[in-house]
Amino acid sequence: MKDLVIIGGGPAGLTAGIYGMRAGLDLVIVEKFSPGGQVINSYEIENYPGFPEPVAGWKLMADMEEQTRRLGAEIISSEVLSVKKDAGVFTVSLSDGTIQARSVIIAAGASNRRLNVAGEKEYLGRGVSYCATCDGAFFKDKVTVVAGGGDVALEEAFFLTRFASKVYLVHRREHFRGADILQKRVLGNDKIITVLNSNIESINGEAAVNSISLKSTLTGEVTRLNTDGVFIFIGYDPNTSFVDRDLLNDQKEIIVDMNMNTGVEGLFAAGDIRSGSKRQIVMAAADGATAVLSAYEYLTGTFCA
Ligand code: NAP
Repeated sequence: MKDLVIIGGGPAGLTAGIYGMRAGLDLVIVEKFSPGGQVINSYEIENYPGFPEPVAGWKLMADMEEQTRRLGAEIISSEVLSVKKDAGVFTVSLSDGTIQARSVIIAAGASNRRLNVAGEKEYLGRGVSYCATCDGAFFKDKVTVVAGGGDVALEEAFFLTRFASKVYLVHRREHFRGADILQKRVLGNDKIITVLNSNIESINGEAAVNSISLKSTLTGEVTRLNTDGVFIFIGYDPNTSFVDRDLLNDQKEIIVDMNMNTGVEGLFAAGDIRSGSKRQIVMAAADGATAVLSAYEYLTGTFCA
C-alpha cells in the first residue's frame, strides 16, 4: 500500500514527485510513455523562470526527471485504466497490474486536438504532423502549412522557418489568439504567409501530402493550396478517458478547487488535465506542488512546510 500514486510524468507529475519525496511520502509515478509530457515537443521554452536563455523542451524535462529520480522517486511505465476508491483505499488499475494507495494525484495532461478532416489520419507521418520539433527537419526547403491561431501555432510556425522555404499559417479567424510578442515575430518573418478566415476542409495527396483544400469562412469559396506538409496545432484535449465522468466538466477536464481537491476525498488533479488550467509549464509545476501539499494534509492531518 502506497501513500500516493501520481499519474503522469509531465511538469505537474514530476513536481508532485519532488515535493512528495521531500515530504517523506511513499509514492510512485505512473507514466504511459516516457516522462516529460507535451513540453518535450517544444523546441525552446523561454518563459520558464530561472533560465536566462531559452531552454530546449526536452532538456528542461530531462533535468526535471533527473531531479525527481535523485530524490528517490520510483517512475514506472504503464497505462492507467481506472481509479476506484473503496473503504478509503484507491485501486489504480494498470495495463499490467494494480496499485493500491491511500491517495492519488491525476496529472495525466492533455493530447493534441485533431482537425478531424479527410486525409488527416491517412497522411499521418506522410506529411501530417503534430510536432514541429520532431518532424520539422524533414521539410528542408519544402512548403508547409501550420493550422491554428494560438501560442503553439505561432511558435511552431516560426520554428519551421528554419527548415521550410515557405510556411502558410492557416487560421479560421481574422485575428490570432496567441501572445502579441509571438504575433509580431511571425508577422515579421517573410517566410510566413498568413491565410486568415479559412478552414482546412481536407488534406490531399497520393503517396504523401501534396495539397490542402481551404474553405473561406467569409465567402464559402473552396480553394486548393499546394504543400508538402501540414502541422496541426489547434489546442489540446485532457487525457481523462480513465476518469469517472461525474468528476469532469463539459470540456472533460477534472473539476478541482484551488487546493487541487476533486470531488473524491484523497483524489487530486494537477496541470493541464484540471479545470481552469492556464496550460503553462510553471503553473502545471505549481499545481503539482499544491496537490502534494493537499495530499499530505489529507494523509497526515497536518500541514507540510
Ligand atoms: P489554444 O490557445 O487553445 O489555441 C488553439 C487555436 O486553434 C485557436 O486559435 C483556435 O481557433 C484554433 N482551433 C481550435 N480548434 C480548431 C479547429 N477545429 N479548426 C481550426 N482551428 C481550430 O491552443 P494552443 O496554441 O495549443 O495553446 C494551448 C495553451 O498553452 C494556451 O493556453 C497557450 O497560451 C499555452 N501555451 C503557452 C505558451 C507560452 O506561454 N510560451 C506556449 C505554448 C502554449 P479560435 O481562435 O478560433 O478558437
